Amino acid sequence: MATVILVTGGTGLVGKAIEHIINTEPEGSRFGKKAGETWIFASSSEGDLRDPAQTRQLYEKYKPTHVIHLAALVGGLFKNMKYKLTFLRDNILINDNILHASYEHNVQKVVSCLSTCVFPDKVEYPLDETKIHVGPPHESNFGYAHAKRMVDVQNHAYKEEFGCNFTSAIPTNVFGPHDNYDLEDSHVIPGLVHKCYLAKKNNTPFVVSGTGKPLRQFIFSQDLAKLFIWQLREYDDVEPVILSVGEDEEVSIKEVADAIVKAVGFQGEYSFDTTRGDGQFRKPASNKKLLGLIGGFEFTPFEQALDISVKWFLDNYATARTGLHKA
Ligand code: NAP
Ligand code: GDP
Repeated sequence: MATVILVTGGTGLVGKAIEHIINTEPEGSRFGKKAGETWIFASSSEGDLRDPAQTRQLYEKYKPTHVIHLAALVGGLFKNMKYKLTFLRDNILINDNILHASYEHNVQKVVSCLSTCVFPDKVEYPLDETKIHVGPPHESNFGYAHAKRMVDVQNHAYKEEFGCNFTSAIPTNVFGPHDNYDLEDSHVIPGLVHKCYLAKKNNTPFVVSGTGKPLRQFIFSQDLAKLFIWQLREYDDVEPVILSVGEDEEVSIKEVADAIVKAVGFQGEYSFDTTRGDGQFRKPASNKKLLGLIGGFEFTPFEQALDISVKWFLDNYATARTGLHKA
């Protein structure tokens, strides 16, 4: 039987990475394309998933048998702080439309994307898959976090009421080619790569937001892509799986800035704007469940992945999402 895998948000950072892996890993291999598979990478121009009718139309067009659901209103700390209601509503609408259309079209499996931002702020570390709902999320992104948490609740309800095979993945902070490099609305790595590039080019100060002290775990988008493909094909349970490097691989924002300075080749001094927010101090997540299930995985070393991402940004500056071509 033909397998049609619909990747919503297929034109974003993670979607483009899945497309890259599917097209470059050997055919028939663990992460490569299998015989009889058709992969569809949908953008918002194919349908606004906040709208039920447009979502239905997308399903009628492609008749997916499997869905990797990535589409979301996404942004870094500062965008999340500005648009809490919009993050809550848009993501609730998108997720509800996708899960219900998947149920109505008898989709065999859905893997939806959450984030380690959805976990409670006050909780015993490391984060693991059992702790999503045990307390309120950090106030800086409560809109996004509550919308994403509901996906886990819905997955359980669709399973109990209708027997659906819906599950979710929980990645940590992601970076890689095709990221959103907006100066204000993006995540820390693409935002700082763009700022550092401009500082070098224009001989202007490179300013990092916050104190530089918070800690984060970063996963390279192409590693994450392999883990999504693994989860779609080899994992059949409603409970989420954290897709992350080890909990001992937290890096501080200062270490991130240092690595970016090196990768961009910026020679000047840089400073911290401590009037700006730090967000959550840390959110270390355990990848024990993942490694136990997948049986070992080689993550790309952080600096190597950063070099690939910076090179992609420099080679694609004219067309990348830099926020400079906004209408
Ligand atoms: P991204 O680069 O901003 O891409 C977002 C994708 O969603 C794009 O393909 C976009 O389509 C699509 N989209 C947005 N709104 C839509 C709508 N109303 N209707 C249809 N499609 C819509 O995001 P990403 O970083 O790849 O994120 C992918 C997933 O990973 C998201 O679920 C996000 O919450 C999760 N995640 C991201 C990170 C991170 O650090 N980036 C960390 C943890 C989890 P267009 O290209 O047409 O705009
Ligand atoms: P978060 O993990 O959801 O908080 O997402 P971010 O990727 O936005 O990371 C935020 C952390 O990086 C905070 O501690 C910020 O203060 C810090 N940071 C430093 N410079 C920047 C920047 O230019 N953009 C963003 N988004 N964060 C920055």
